[in-house]
This record gives sequence, C-alpha cells and structure tokens, in this order.
Amino acid sequence: MLTDNRILSVDAALARILAQIPVLPAEEVLLTEALGRVLAEDVYADIDVPPFHNSAMDGYAVIAADTAGASRERPVELRVIADLPAGQVPAVPVRPGEAVRIMTGAPLPDGADAIVRVEDTERGEGTVRVLAPARPGRDVRLAGEDVRAGDLVLPTGTFVRPAEVGMLAMLGRRRVRVVRRPRVAVLTTGDELVDVDEPLTPGKIRNINLYSISAQVAWCGGVPVPLGVARDTLEELEARIREGLSTDMLITSAGVSVGDYDVVKAVLDKLGHIDFWRVNMKPAKPLAFGRIGGIPMFGLPGNPASSMVAFEQFVRPALLKMQGRRALHKPTLQAIAEVALDNRGGRRAFVRGYVHQHDGAWRVRPAGQEGAGIMTTMVRANCLIVIPEQVERVAPGDTVTVELLDGGAAEEPVAGGGRPGAAGGDDCCA
Ligand code: AMP
Ligand code: MG
Repeated sequence: MLTDNRILSVDAALARILAQIPVLPAEEVLLTEALGRVLAEDVYADIDVPPFHNSAMDGYAVIAADTAGASRERPVELRVIADLPAGQVPAVPVRPGEAVRIMTGAPLPDGADAIVRVEDTERGEGTVRVLAPARPGRDVRLAGEDVRAGDLVLPTGTFVRPAEVGMLAMLGRRRVRVVRRPRVAVLTTGDELVDVDEPLTPGKIRNINLYSISAQVAWCGGVPVPLGVARDTLEELEARIREGLSTDMLITSAGVSVGDYDVVKAVLDKLGHIDFWRVNMKPAKPLAFGRIGGIPMFGLPGNPASSMVAFEQFVRPALLKMQGRRALHKPTLQAIAEVALDNRGGRRAFVRGYVHQHDGAWRVRPAGQEGAGIMTTMVRANCLIVIPEQVERVAPGDTVTVELLDGGAAEEPVAGGGRPGAAGGDDCCA
C-alpha cells in the first residue's frame, strides 16, 4: 500500500536506491567488447614487458665506452657488423670497435649497452662515424621496465577505458571477465503518445521518452529493451510491465503524478512494492522507486526534461553501480552564476545550464526556458546547476555547483536553435 506519504530528500532517495541495487554477475567477453566495462577479475602480467632489452631509437647499438669523447670534430669510427630490423634477433655480439645498425624495437645485441641515435652518426663504407658520446643505457628500453611477470596490473573493479584495452592486449588477453551489462526495460505510458513516424492526430504528441530514456540507458552502459507504449488502463499496463520483468531493471515513464489517469503507481503497488514516490526536487518531484518481480523499478515523470533530469540523478548512479562502477556521481565544477537564479519552495533545484570558460573561470547560465517539457533547453544544456534546498536565490557572481552532463563538454551551442519568446512550459507539478 502507498502508506509512506513522506517526501524524501534527493540524498536520502539516492541512498535508499543504491542500498537496493546489486552488482550484476560477471561474464567473459572478447577483448574487443571490453571497452566501458568493469573488470571482474584481477589481471596479472604473464610476461615481462618489454620482454627483452631493446632499442628506443633508430641508430647503432654500441659499447658506450667506445664512444667516449666522440664529437663532430673528432668522430669515433666503428665497424658495422650487422643490420638489425625490429622483429629479428641479433646473430652476433658487439665487440669493442664494432656497432650494429639497429631499428626501434629491435633487441639489444649482447655486448652492446647503448644506442647512438642515427642523427648523431655519419655512415661510411662498412663503418659508422659516431659524432657524440653515448652514456651506458642511453636509449635502451630495459626488459620488464613497464611491467614484470607476476605483477597485478589491472585489479578487479578497474573501469576499462581505451588505455586498459591496450594494456589487456599487451598482457595477451583475448578474453576477459567483466561485469555483465544491465538489460533495462523501458515502458512509456499515455493515451496521448504516438510513435515518431505515426500520424499526429488531434490531441496526440510524439513519444519522446521511449527514445530519450533508452538513449540514456545506452549512454550509461546499459542495454535498453524498449517495450513501447502502454495505454492508461490498469490491464494493459499490468500486462506490459510483466513483459519487462525478465530484465535487470524496469523504467516506466509518466503516470506517477496525481492525475486521474496516472495508473502506474496503482499497478506498481499491486504487482510489487513502492519504496517512495516523491522526492524533494525540482523538476521531477513525482518519481517512484520500488521493486517488482525481484528487480528495481523507476517510475520517471512524463515531462521529457524532468524525466531526463531524474534519470541523471537516480537511474544513472544505479546503472553504474550494477556494472560495478565505483565513481557513481557526475563530475562537478564550481562556476560563477552569470544571472540570478530563483529557487522558492525549499526543493533542490537542478537547472539545465550552459557552463563555459571565460577569463580563466567557469561561468554558467540557464540554457533556456525552465519548463519541465522544454526539450530545447535540454538540448542546449551541458550541465545541471544545483541549487540547494535552503538557497532561495543565487545572485549574479555567486559560486554554484554544476554537474556536468555526459558528452556535454563546454562546446558552444549551435546557433539558430529555438525560437525567441516561445512560451514556457508549465512547471506546476514536475
Ligand atoms: P504525466 O506524468 O502522465 O502526467 O505526464 C506529464 C506530461 O508529460 C504530459 O504533458 C504528457 O503528455 C507528457 N508525456 C508523458 N509521456 C511522454 C512521452 N513518452 N513523451 C513525451 N511526452 C510525454
Ligand atoms: Mg499521463
């Protein structure tokens, strides 16, 4: 039953959510599929890397002592006994008075202890004139200087970026164990929704959230399972929700506010357990979280921008936790407010903002009209400006915290979007 009528703070809601989110089991994937995943095994080095001493430069492998005092005026002449490209092994050792012409990456011949770079030499007939002295070890890459056989190189819990993919290749890992990606059912609700390519008959609007939520899921490393639209009836909603229960998480869109046709809460209450359904934030105050069929469930608000903001605050950290990620929060910056920002009503506000650098400081302003349904503002935003519950007004010049949106590096918005003076959306309930 919906007995718990309290309104939770953003922090309390997130803590309650995360406490109920499991880390998913591991699976083995090909190296080429490991990007963006979290390692579910400790990866040790099976070999020294580099596996052998080798040349860091194109030049000549020499005995450093032979080159003492060499200069352009008084070159030291050495006999070139072999040519050594990368991928071959030296057949003969270097003895005093000798040199091996060597390419970057080729193994250092026995006897040699330094490389003279090609630009410090002049080639002769079967000889080389060395024009500068080389110290022992000069331009030699030592076996094991990068990793040593047996080293723990990438521990369990490591997030795999391109650098880690390269490291796994270096360690000879064709396959690796990683945390499974969450499959996330996305169900939109509303009699007013038509799909993007369906005719827009009177009273209908296009279904934005099915696509924006699915994209957000994918952006966070999840696999969206779009379930389309359920009409606003208990029977249809119940049937569609049951379809989504074989996944790792269910997200529903709309139908969680207080309207007569908001049936999502009723169905969730019947089929599962609603933990809470109101959060003290703006936008996205109506926001349900609970469990259904053993999986966590989010009921996001219907207004598209509110839905996206609520996803960023709550669903994203939950999805990251499921994937074994440790850094669950969005990166933040401190920025100077360029304009005044009002926040009446004691809620934590997340204002879609545009943050940019100016005269060496980060500055931020709202990205457009505030209405909970205004997508233009969402498109222009590269951050969310966070205004704490107790702050009623941010004055121009005040410092505020901004949460950076993924991929929203401070790029200039493309000019020409939007329509000056367009009416704002209503901000009554979301
Ligand atoms: P509700 O939460 O059902 O009261 O919906 C709030 C607002 O969001 C209404 O204006 C809905 O028409 C709108 N809305 C709900 N679902 C979607 C959707 N999938 N795409 C675009 N707008 C939606
Ligand atoms: Mg509705």
